[in-house]
Amino acid sequence: MTFNDLKLSPAILKALDKENYTSPTPIQEQAIPVVLTGKDLFGCAQTGTGKTAAFSLPIVQLLSEQQGKPQGVRRTRSLILTPTRELALQILENIQAYSQFTDLRSVAIVGGVSQKAQERSLERGADVIIATPGRLIDLINQKFVNLQHVQILVLDEADRMLDMGFIHDVKRIITKMPSKKQTLFFSATMPPEISKLVKALLVNPVKVEITPASSTVDRIAQSVYHVEKSDKQGLLNHLLEDPSIVSALVFTRTKHGADRVVRGLNKVNITAQAIHGNKSQNSRQNALSSFKSGATRVLVATDIAARGIDVDELSHVINFNLPNIPETYVHRIGRTGRAGLSGIAISFCESEELPYLKDIQKMIKKTIPVVTDQSDPMLIS
Ligand code: AMP
Repeated sequence: MTFNDLKLSPAILKALDKENYTSPTPIQEQAIPVVLTGKDLFGCAQTGTGKTAAFSLPIVQLLSEQQGKPQGVRRTRSLILTPTRELALQILENIQAYSQFTDLRSVAIVGGVSQKAQERSLERGADVIIATPGRLIDLINQKFVNLQHVQILVLDEADRMLDMGFIHDVKRIITKMPSKKQTLFFSATMPPEISKLVKALLVNPVKVEITPASSTVDRIAQSVYHVEKSDKQGLLNHLLEDPSIVSALVFTRTKHGADRVVRGLNKVNITAQAIHGNKSQNSRQNALSSFKSGATRVLVATDIAARGIDVDELSHVINFNLPNIPETYVHRIGRTGRAGLSGIAISFCESEELPYLKDIQKMIKKTIPVVTDQSDPMLIS
């Protein structure tokens, strides 16, 4: 299939050509026709599948087909809500590229930067606003943003917004919009709270589900150590003696487990911090910033907490515990090897976790090579 088959306008096709996109990804193939017909969409997909273009391209098309500026005023006709600044800015960059041959204007509204520039930008009018919830609410309250004319709402990474405690803000923002609108809802996972939200916010949605591309997994060098539970900490400390592991994200099954691993690492003078649900948002943010800046070498996380983490150029993911759900393994290791970089994923498998390893290998359709280092007494041969 080509983008031409998706009935996208010449202006968009020209932009895609300039971006060197040759053919649509599976989520784009499935979602674009649905969005173009005005239906609500529930997309189950994670970053890396091309989901941004899957919602952005039809939005650009639908909005640019309309007469955009009644009485010369540019009204906000689409709002895209995202959990993180990084994601908002990435989406802005994409939409600006896709709409470069149209008259549309897009603006990002995110926290952590001066509000003044955003106020000035909003005064010029924006067809599309891409925002994180907190700053948007501030600007709505101060009347810099009017959402009365929104026709298309996108909730991107809804599960992360839920995890990060934004859901009340999101609900408040929704009350500022017309009730009749098109809603596009994206989430990588489907916990019960997400199903509830989908039911509350979407009308007869079309569901599009994309499992992570195996190509992502193929790009990552994976290995597994068979090691007893009591030897895992020693093995981790030993592996981290290798200075080529510049930064590592370590996954544990429990919050206590995460704290224990951090203590074990700190004892041998390896800088490490835990990030999990028992910690305040502030302390999680601090741990994350410190990890991103390189001040902390190892971040230890549980799966839930890790969903809020966006780290580019992460070289190593280490599974201190194997997850019992194979998809979780793919999500975890997918945090390395981003943006075409290669990544390394190391897993520790104790005897009780052997069935998990079997399930994972079945799902990724390959056998993860076992490291058998004869000189290492900790390993089970
Ligand atoms: P996303 O999942 O939206 O974060 O997209 C992942 C990356 O793939 C981004 O860098 C996009 O610019 C790129 N991308 C999205 N769709 C396509 C496509 N059809 N062809 C080539 N690259 C794409």
